[in-house]
Amino acid sequence: MLLLTCPVCGVEGEESEFHCGGEAHIRRPATHDPENITDTEQRDYLFMRHNPRGLHFERWRCDRGCGKWFHAARDTATMEFKAYYAIDALPPKDLMQQATGEWATFFSGVLNASAKKAAKKSAAKKPAAKKSAAKAPRKGA
Ligand SMILES: [Zn+2]
Repeated sequence: MLLLTCPVCGVEGEESEFHCGGEAHIRRPATHDPENITDTEQRDYLFMRHNPRGLHFERWRCDRGCGKWFHAARDTATMEFKAYYAIDALPPKDLMQQATGEWATFFSGVLNASAKKAAKKSAAKKPAAKKSAAKAPRKGA
């Protein structure tokens, strides 16, 4: 039996009190680029899903509580939920870094982009010096 906690309303319950919506972070080509959908993209959207042993990212709905959808990171080997996060958010950075296989590939673009952004920010801040010096460590965390 899986035990979940809704990150929206905080209700805790067994998996039967929630509804699993399958894999998280699926890009729907018809939403993002309806003019240029290829058959391969549409096939992948409809049928291709990750099935890892280990860290996996899923969508769940809080049936008995608020009725909202949310994301959960779960280890499929231990059945342990690692994190719950908003439906419009990405998983915590440490979990994206722990992801393996197809999930690692999926999150690598996000992690690389955020690393570049952080590097740009710190490079831009160096000349500003004194006033922002106290805040700099917090923003990096
Ligand atoms: Zn809820």
